[in-house]
Amino acid sequence: MTVSVWQEVPEPIQVEHDDAVIGAGIVGAYTATLLRERGRDVALIDARFPAAGASGRNAGFVLTAQREPYPVLIEQMGREAAREILTMVRENVLRMRSLANRFAIPLEDGAAHLAETHAEARELEHWARELEADGATVEFSHGDPYGSSGYTAMMQIENDFMVQPARLTEAIAATSGATLYDHNEVYAIEPAGECLLVRGRRAHIRCHRVYIATNGYGCDLHPYLHSIVRPVRGQITVTTPVERLINVAGITENHYFRQLPDGQLFIGGARAFFEAQEYTAEDAVTPNLHLNLVNYLRLRFPGVEFEVERQWAGIHGFTPDRRVAVGFLPNERRVVFAVGFSGYGNSIGLVAAERMVALALEGRDPGPLSATRFA
Ligand SMILES: Cc1cc2nc3c(=O)[nH]c(=O)nc-3n(C[C@H](O)[C@H](O)[C@H](O)COP(=O)(O)OP(=O)(O)OC[C@H]3O[C@@H](n4cnc5c(N)ncnc54)[C@H](O)[C@@H]3O)c2cc1C
Repeated sequence: MTVSVWQEVPEPIQVEHDDAVIGAGIVGAYTATLLRERGRDVALIDARFPAAGASGRNAGFVLTAQREPYPVLIEQMGREAAREILTMVRENVLRMRSLANRFAIPLEDGAAHLAETHAEARELEHWARELEADGATVEFSHGDPYGSSGYTAMMQIENDFMVQPARLTEAIAATSGATLYDHNEVYAIEPAGECLLVRGRRAHIRCHRVYIATNGYGCDLHPYLHSIVRPVRGQITVTTPVERLINVAGITENHYFRQLPDGQLFIGGARAFFEAQEYTAEDAVTPNLHLNLVNYLRLRFPGVEFEVERQWAGIHGFTPDRRVAVGFLPNERRVVFAVGFSGYGNSIGLVAAERMVALALEGRDPGPLSATRFA
């Protein structure tokens, strides 16, 4: 997204705050909360409105997981760093649960990682054992949780759950204590003497620090962000209600699905089959990917009658190694970012926000989340 000279209002309001947080998704809303808790006066800015982005469009899985399975994380980073990520994710899941409870947001306990072949079942069991070795409580079993859908094994991790993600993000933003500037797309962050000037379509905000929480959308804010985060689309289909079929939400290598409280089947994923087309920031649905989603439901739950009721798309931010990046903009220690959640912002977004605030205010190294790994 960008802003043309014609779109800016004739006289944008001129305001001052200690800090400006750009992006009112779950990460920006929680960042604003943390900054207010430290007594700072905060502007929370969004191009649209709170939860307009991925935080209001995702599948609601809150999982003790990252994009790469735990054994792959260990291989990539070494056990110690992988364990540190696991610790963060476990903490994040508990914090998400406690926020959902605090704001009385509906949640459903449990989610099952599923194997579709015997080889995948062996990999899933290995994943379960590695998690257990590092202290997580995991249930692994052979067989199909839905009876006759053809899955070969499942793994459930303690505390994983499903949430209504838009309501949760809205509640965090609304109670953050920040001043909200919605419909105010930011197009420039400029030095202004001792301060920074955040130029948006409707408001120009003078402040001391800027926190970028735009995930996949914010690449245009600074060329450096282009090099570490890439917009990637995710699409979801929801059907008309059917009899209760899915007692626990499922995640396979390429699909994820659940059944909503009113009976609708909810399915997303399939991006791997359409990689080239899905590397985009365009928030649009495509017939080919949706056909894949519907066909997957028909394959796994044969004979069930449904129509498609809703379809939508959302934009992820993917980093080269599929893990969030927290850091400063080059040569500008007053501007920090936490972007590139790679499809797992519900699992690590709150802790990443906390690490971003600690980096900005205390210079504390974000550890394995540090963007310096891409230097
Ligand atoms: C289809 C789909 C399904 C997903 N399912 C899951 C899931 O089940 N579990 C999970 O953990 N994660 C899931 N994710 C990923 C998860 O939604 C994200 O990781 C998370 O929401 C990122 O939060 P965020 O606050 O960083 O970004 P966002 O929620 O995208 O917020 C960024 C905000 O920045 C604003 N913005 C952008 N540019 C500007 C600008 N220039 N000026 C002002 N504002 C700007 C946008 O309007 C937006 O509101 C899914 C994502 C998608 C797309």
